[in-house]
Amino acid sequence: MALSRFRALEMVQNREIVTVEKPSVHVSDFFASHVFTREKMQHSLTSDMYTRFINAVDKGEKMDKDVADAVATAMKTWAIARGVTHYTHWFQPLTGATAEKHDSFFDLTGSGQAIEKFKGTALVQQEPDASSFPSGGLRNTFEARGYTAWDPTSPAFIIESETASTLCIPSVFVSYTGEALDYKTPLLKSLSVIDKAATAVCQYFDKDVNKVHPTLGPEQEYFLVDKALHDARPDLLMTGRTVFGMAAAKGQQLEDHYFGSIPARVMNFMVDFETECHKLGIPIRTRHNEVAPGQFECAPTFEEINLSVDHNQLLMDVIEKVALRHNLKALLHEKPFAGVNGSGKHNNWSLSTNTGVNLLSPSSRPKENLQFLTFFVCTIKAVHEHADLMRASIASASNDHRLGANEAPPAIMSVFIGSTLTQVLDELEKNAKISVGKGDNVYLKLGINKIPAILLDNTDRNRTSPFAFTGNKFEFRAVGSSANNSPALTVLNTIVTDQLLDFKDKVDKLIDKGTKKELAIIQVLRQYVKESRAIRFEGNGYSEEWVEEAAKRGLNNIKTTPKALDAYVSKKTEQLFVKHHIFTKAELHARHDIRLENYIKKIQIEGRIIEQLANNQIIPTAIKYQNLLIENVKGLKEIGMEASGKAVKATIAQIAEHIEAIKQGTDEMVEARKEANNASNTEQSAHIYCDKVRPFFDTIRYHVDKLELLIDDEAWPLVKYRELLFLK
Ligand code: ADP
Ligand code: MG
Repeated sequence: MALSRFRALEMVQNREIVTVEKPSVHVSDFFASHVFTREKMQHSLTSDMYTRFINAVDKGEKMDKDVADAVATAMKTWAIARGVTHYTHWFQPLTGATAEKHDSFFDLTGSGQAIEKFKGTALVQQEPDASSFPSGGLRNTFEARGYTAWDPTSPAFIIESETASTLCIPSVFVSYTGEALDYKTPLLKSLSVIDKAATAVCQYFDKDVNKVHPTLGPEQEYFLVDKALHDARPDLLMTGRTVFGMAAAKGQQLEDHYFGSIPARVMNFMVDFETECHKLGIPIRTRHNEVAPGQFECAPTFEEINLSVDHNQLLMDVIEKVALRHNLKALLHEKPFAGVNGSGKHNNWSLSTNTGVNLLSPSSRPKENLQFLTFFVCTIKAVHEHADLMRASIASASNDHRLGANEAPPAIMSVFIGSTLTQVLDELEKNAKISVGKGDNVYLKLGINKIPAILLDNTDRNRTSPFAFTGNKFEFRAVGSSANNSPALTVLNTIVTDQLLDFKDKVDKLIDKGTKKELAIIQVLRQYVKESRAIRFEGNGYSEEWVEEAAKRGLNNIKTTPKALDAYVSKKTEQLFVKHHIFTKAELHARHDIRLENYIKKIQIEGRIIEQLANNQIIPTAIKYQNLLIENVKGLKEIGMEASGKAVKATIAQIAEHIEAIKQGTDEMVEARKEANNASNTEQSAHIYCDKVRPFFDTIRYHVDKLELLIDDEAWPLVKYRELLFLK
């Protein structure tokens, strides 16, 4: 028996606030207590072993078997001392969730004696019998062999549950023949290529730079709803969003939730959640309410990108688990509620050198600012070149609800940089003739010396841009709240790599011809600024005017996933990824297929739940209520008050109209679904789901929401927005 709306509301009335004790008031006392950090490793390995491990990881050298064995033993000893019984390779298959398959440390010796064992070979590789993970046809199911392999750049950690503790080993997931089946593998490849390209460019400015790594600080938005209310809504249960629901009388129009005080129940959840994150070494720093009621955000301190992506994946798990302890359900869906803001995951991205310089941070020294400008302009140019691929990288059925809904970064890619830097780029573009004078003269002429060292205030105002420069980093805001960050970042790293290589090539050619280095750099940058002008937009990205203006500029506005994904397999994209060895053509097409399939499944499930709720709950409720009204009209007639039944009769007619429309809508939707399911290939099916099935969602919803307004509150089966959205 499903949980009814009124039983759920009763449960909410009786909720007691759950308080969980923190291990210590000071985070530093327990931060990363559940992580096998480098310090812990150093402690338990001989210094020779430790050095060989670090060299293998940091310099990408081969890891010898004896090193892997030593690390495995050290890891096992540490984990067992903490009560761990099992280990798992923890990886990120293309389903979007993280995956694990637990193996026990426990084993029997030849003589039948029980021991706890964990060897280097088990650390390095595991075969998780993974035939049911999506592979887009890359791995024949009969072969069923996907391998997980240890990623030593991300530290192992312990996940505790009430009954068991498990050592999780971050891993990549590849097929028997070496194709990537996960998100991590291409991300790691992109890190390697951007390191090489960016380091080479840094050499123009600083010979000490020998390594560059991208950094990431992902701000995570989410909603919290009471668990019972959530469970009483089959649509939330099945799809993570509400397919019906009349807007509450009060939504976000008063803007009183944003940065408002956090309710006690939520605060307790947040403290608990942050504690769990801190134990796992996830450096959560900020917490606040977001714009919509029931919406919140947290942000970590930025880290090296691979670690940060792992941490964000882990954080999404932790949010959900900890929420349950507080009788809450965390919704990571991009658009759980119509009419109020959806959720995103702002990816703050920058590049950092081994010398500790943030390459996207302007400095007070003009010479360093030329370096800043180089990376800044190359990134803008890269986004201009590959805007459609950027759009494709964040496309999903759930993110479609949010992009272009006049509340979130639109489906049009553009870059915001703020007025100061706009001026600098304008001057750079205009000053056609620049000769290098003495000292810093050249920088003066270019206005480069005018870039203030601190730009944060100047650049952080425009919240409507999908890709904004925010003082010392770019912020890719169009990424969805439920997404794995890797696809977006793999694309970003790769396109910037491509741009940096092109830049280096052009500058070197000019230098070879005798142009002075600074001048060569400036010449190429000027060309880039000119060529990428169209992608820069400083105005309101949510406005109608921008949609028109963007069209004039030739920028695409791709609103739906199946169309957006075309750019993922265009000739241009294929060349880009193959050239930089991120994906083979086969891998790319496999991913395209998987994402289309994912889209199809999501829309299919939503269509089914809409049909079921409409036919099994909404229409029967409406008919029952309509019958009551009919009885009422009959009764009035009996006592000779026929004339008074007018308003009621009108309501009866309205209800009838909505019932008709819902019935017709669901019937036609089912027909469209059949057509989609019978399509000859995945791509066609996805397009039919998008263009023919999905439009019914809105029509059906319109009539259901109208019924919600007409029907007795006591009879309405679905938990209402006003009940769901406001946590006390
Ligand atoms: P806001 O909340 O106004 O967007 P914050 O300064 O709080 O801005 O930063 C948001 C996120 O950006 C944080 O996760 C932070 O760690 C991250 N961030 C800051 N500097 C960098 C950087 N150099 N590289 C990547 N992320 C960064
Ligand atoms: Mg931000």
